[in-house]
Amino acid sequence: MLISRKALLLSVREVAESDLFLSLLSPSYGRFSAVAKGGRRSIRRFVNKLEAGHLLRIHLRWGKKGLAPVVEAADLLWAPERWRKDPRAFALAGYFLELCERSCPPAEGREVFPLLLHSLRLLEGQGASLLLASFFELRLLGLLGWAPELDRCLGCGGPLRRGGALFPEKGGILCPSCSGEGGFELSARSLALLRYLVRLSPTKLSRVRPQAESLNQISRALRTFLKVVLDQDIKALKVLEALESPGEEAP
Ligand SMILES: [Zn+2]
Repeated sequence: MLISRKALLLSVREVAESDLFLSLLSPSYGRFSAVAKGGRRSIRRFVNKLEAGHLLRIHLRWGKKGLAPVVEAADLLWAPERWRKDPRAFALAGYFLELCERSCPPAEGREVFPLLLHSLRLLEGQGASLLLASFFELRLLGLLGWAPELDRCLGCGGPLRRGGALFPEKGGILCPSCSGEGGFELSARSLALLRYLVRLSPTKLSRVRPQAESLNQISRALRTFLKVVLDQDIKALKVLEALESPGEEAP
């Protein structure tokens, strides 16, 4: 039986002689894997299609139970162009894709699909920025159910009017009276930026002009938080951070 699914291609790995092992994210099935037989050699069926970040309609055939389905054909629905010539856009796209792959278990992550597609489209239209990266990180944490409480102190329950500090291992933010030493400092302004980004429509992101200091604070805090909750090294983050200049896009 042949089944068609719309999906974003998260990663492509060469296996066996010339087969490709694909990891995909679908809005209706979540993350799943598939194998493209002879994908490297198969010029006619797959040329320029099976690349990470592409939106595809993929036609799958199931064989033995427990084995990944085989890709019979793929239609290219959308392919970003910018990141072929822009290393920062390429690195940020790779980071988004890797985060989704590592955070969505098989058959889960349906709710992550719109965030990923929106963010890749913003990246295509506007290029890479620390703000877009932080927006994605924060919203991904929210979708996965790990977003820290932004209004109340994890310790005393009091409001975080004077800012606070994020403690990734504790899973939240402590007010200045409870925090003591350590944690990632978040000023009142940085917390306001996080609260704003939690609700913001992605289409309005280009109008946001955060202070460089706040943006750097939330970026550091979110990335450390993600590393702790995922308990994995994000390889693409090293590449991305080598290309980023902190806060450079702020006025
Ligand atoms: Zn407190």
